[in-house]
Amino acid sequence: MEQLLRDGLTTLGLPTGGIPALIRYADLLVEKNKVMNLTAITEPADIAALHFLDSAALLTLADWKGKTVADIGTGAGFPGLPLRIVDPSIRLTLLDAQNKRVEFLKEVCGELGLANVECVHARAEEFAADHREGFDLVTSRAVAALPLLCELCLPLVKVGGYFAAMKSVDADAELASAAHAIEVLGGAVDHVTDYAIPGTEVHHRVIFIKKCRETGKKYPRAFAKIKKNPL
Ligand code: SAM
Repeated sequence: MEQLLRDGLTTLGLPTGGIPALIRYADLLVEKNKVMNLTAITEPADIAALHFLDSAALLTLADWKGKTVADIGTGAGFPGLPLRIVDPSIRLTLLDAQNKRVEFLKEVCGELGLANVECVHARAEEFAADHREGFDLVTSRAVAALPLLCELCLPLVKVGGYFAAMKSVDADAELASAAHAIEVLGGAVDHVTDYAIPGTEVHHRVIFIKKCRETGKKYPRAFAKIKKNPL
């Protein structure tokens, strides 16, 4: 795993100082995964590529230095925790609706001695009540379809900040279906970038949505409403 991470991070032009922490994180992930469902990806090489390098690749696509970042529906910490480990200047909030996952993340942060990381057990749409327009960048991977996801994430982004939605490269129709939601929530698509995960044939996509104006106070709605009637 160490060599894969060293090669991958070097290919991405990113610092390699976080590698020991990433290796320890992988050990904790595999260990905890034996007793609770955190990830289907358990081979060290796959964890390195499909979790760590996939997440870290985002650092090459925007300016993250010193930024406040919230990772919504982070699960076992992706993409937020690798971002913070590789760039320690990031001030990170990891949020998930499943408390067991949040407890695991607290353990990892304690073991790795990570400062400036908050692990929050909450639903995104409820967290927004006290944290609207609170973050420079919001990330999310594998949580929901884009129209719904935008309503969970865009209210949390500061005006002038970005929501980075990690998607597959065949997300054209999904993006088109989110055009109305993005507009209503005060956003605009800034750029869409496809990238290769180093050392693999896998290509993924990040959709950067800029927050152009404040989101109306009626959003986000309760989850049942969002789901029944997506924007
Ligand atoms: N982002 C991680 C990744 O890519 O490995 C985890 C993805 S997992 C498939 C989806 C996660 O989103 C779950 O841990 C779930 O609890 C969380 N989630 C779904 N809806 C949520 C909501 N409304 N607020 C907070 N977390 C949510």
